[in-house]
Amino acid sequence: MSRTFPKTGSSTYTAPDADELVRRVAQVAAVAGTSAPFINTDAPIELVRCQVSRFVSSLGRPGTCRACDRTIFWIRTTNGKNAPYTREALSHFADCPAAATFRRDKTPQ
Ligand SMILES: [Zn+2]
Repeated sequence: MSRTFPKTGSSTYTAPDADELVRRVAQVAAVAGTSAPFINTDAPIELVRCQVSRFVSSLGRPGTCRACDRTIFWIRTTNGKNAPYTREALSHFADCPAAATFRRDKTPQ
């Protein structure tokens, strides 16, 4: 997966499209050992995003990333570990700007 980020501005964020969100939901569902919900990709992107967000928040325990202060959801994986995911069903290990420090800073007790 390669992306180009704009060089100007403070944000390097690229909003995922519906297909990307569906892919992520499938990944999260697999990680959590559950089945992915049906997501209507013909719906407006705001609705798709809303469904994804609801799915992630129903699976995980809300928390805040200690490294970057973003809202994350701790999802219990099939091997009994907790993995942080964002509202957009992206692994926060991949998403966190402070991922390097994050890895040492494990799940809150
Ligand atoms: Zn973070």
